[in-house]
Amino acid sequence: MKRNIYVVNVLIIAIICGYCVNLEAQNKYPEPEPMKPGMSEFWTPQPKIVTPGKATENAVISPPSDAIVLFDGKDLSAWKSNNKEGGDPKWIVKDGILIATPTGSIETKQHFENYQLHIEWRISEDVTGKSQGRGNSGVFMQGIYEVQVLDSYQSETYANGQAGSIYKQTPPLVNAMRKPGEWNVYDIIYSAPIFKKDGTYRIPPRVTIIHNGVVIQNNTTILGTTEYIGFPRVVEHGAGPILLQDHGNAVNFRNIWIREL
Ligand code: MG
Repeated sequence: MKRNIYVVNVLIIAIICGYCVNLEAQNKYPEPEPMKPGMSEFWTPQPKIVTPGKATENAVISPPSDAIVLFDGKDLSAWKSNNKEGGDPKWIVKDGILIATPTGSIETKQHFENYQLHIEWRISEDVTGKSQGRGNSGVFMQGIYEVQVLDSYQSETYANGQAGSIYKQTPPLVNAMRKPGEWNVYDIIYSAPIFKKDGTYRIPPRVTIIHNGVVIQNNTTILGTTEYIGFPRVVEHGAGPILLQDHGNAVNFRNIWIREL
């Protein structure tokens, strides 16, 4: 009799243990639900709709609907002089074109951080001079980092000073220049630097540039300020203007717009 009770007890314990082990296994390793296509999709929020620009008589591509227009061929109301005195810029607006004059550089009144900038520029057909003296201007990001504007069409200069270079730092990947008299286009995608507490870069400024549809800078790291003499410096700053350089040459600009990112 005792032996029978013992056997029954052992059987009951075995069944309970088996159940517990099974339950624990189930808790530890729940059966995953089989994935369905919709489980890796989300529908909201949808990207904002932007109406793209189009080619016109006076633009390779006109501003998209969400762009801030910096120059539309009419006036320089978005700009001021970079001279010490400041005030209205003295550059010429004629027939829808902005012409650099030797009256100092100009900069946008509004300051920016991360953006897509579109700017069309042209070297005069009757350009003279050579190397850095031939159709020189520049687009400065945040007022201190220059993308060179120059006649680099069959005109030699130092590689890191030609059109599309991060001036005195990084040459363009290729030379995609159009000849004097034809319009060039820069599409510049710029990421502002992020600084550490000690004023050095945590993330340096970076830029991608498309010149006439050709990538000439690919997420290039900018080493610091543009210096004519000496090496780049790291200077802590916040949002800054787009600056167009007066280098004494009558470079033409048109259709300038920007999209903050
Ligand atoms: Mg320049």
